[in-house]
Amino acid sequence: MIVRKIVFWNWSLIIGLLLIGSAAIADRPPECKYCGKKITGRYIVSEGYNYHVKCYENHIALRCALCGGIINDEYFEDFWGNTVHSKHKGEVPQCEYCRRFISDEISKGGVEYDDGRKVCGICREHAVDDVAYAEAVKTKLTKTLKGQGIDIVGVEVPLYLVNKSTMTELSAGSHADPLGFTHYEQTSYAGGIIAERSFKIYMLNGLPRFEFISALAHELMHVWMFTNAPTDIDPVLREGSCNYAAFLIIRNYPDKEARFVVDNMTSDPNPVYGEGFRRVKKYVDRHGVSKWLEYLKSNKYPPW
Ligand SMILES: [Zn+2]
Ligand SMILES: [Zn+2]
Ligand SMILES: [Zn+2]
Ligand SMILES: [Zn+2]
Repeated sequence: MIVRKIVFWNWSLIIGLLLIGSAAIADRPPECKYCGKKITGRYIVSEGYNYHVKCYENHIALRCALCGGIINDEYFEDFWGNTVHSKHKGEVPQCEYCRRFISDEISKGGVEYDDGRKVCGICREHAVDDVAYAEAVKTKLTKTLKGQGIDIVGVEVPLYLVNKSTMTELSAGSHADPLGFTHYEQTSYAGGIIAERSFKIYMLNGLPRFEFISALAHELMHVWMFTNAPTDIDPVLREGSCNYAAFLIIRNYPDKEARFVVDNMTSDPNPVYGEGFRRVKKYVDRHGVSKWLEYLKSNKYPPW
């Protein structure tokens, strides 16, 4: 299972700097930084430069991406570079995944899923609703993971897309807001030898492409761990390792959306998922991927 990273971290609250000056009795009237002409009367000073009020308003001023108004006090800037008056927060819904304000101006509109998730038009463009497509992604990920030494080729793993209410029921008691869930069953002979294993992966439907890829890679790593590592492995090591497997995949994409997913993972304050990932990453940075996988095969407790 994977935790969806929450709202606020990627918003920087910034105070715009804007002063209004008056050039009334200056010996030498200031020049407008924008048009180069002399200024008489009221003018605007911004970041040390002087502007005609009109030049400033029409060409220089920071504008709100939602209402188009000039921003001259508190505003938010999202991961994607949209600047928005802080007053819109709470007024206009934000996308469940990318946190853009859902609007024609910023996010190409958006939709509300039947389970209540509000998802913007940009995330919808590559959202995964189709089982055949999801299977194709799974096949590709399985191959890429094998290249990293995480081999689950030949393990049968049926994949299901479910809505949020079903996902919440399935993962009850595990984590608050999962994007995926791996169901594992085994039957063993007396003496503990495993006779049969079976897996099912449930993924939240309608996830934006890179959220889906990352979450599915995480779940596939659970499958590898169920077949290769002690089953009662420490949760921080387990979830941190699954996130690290997702990171191995997602970091290869140049897209900004993929970077957003990596940023979320890296800065996730969750003590299991976020801290686990950072610890595993530190370990792998130092010792390499194969040492990490070897470690997982025979240890329940973290190496730190
Ligand atoms: Zn997990
Ligand atoms: Zn001017
Ligand atoms: Zn505004
Ligand atoms: Zn979105």
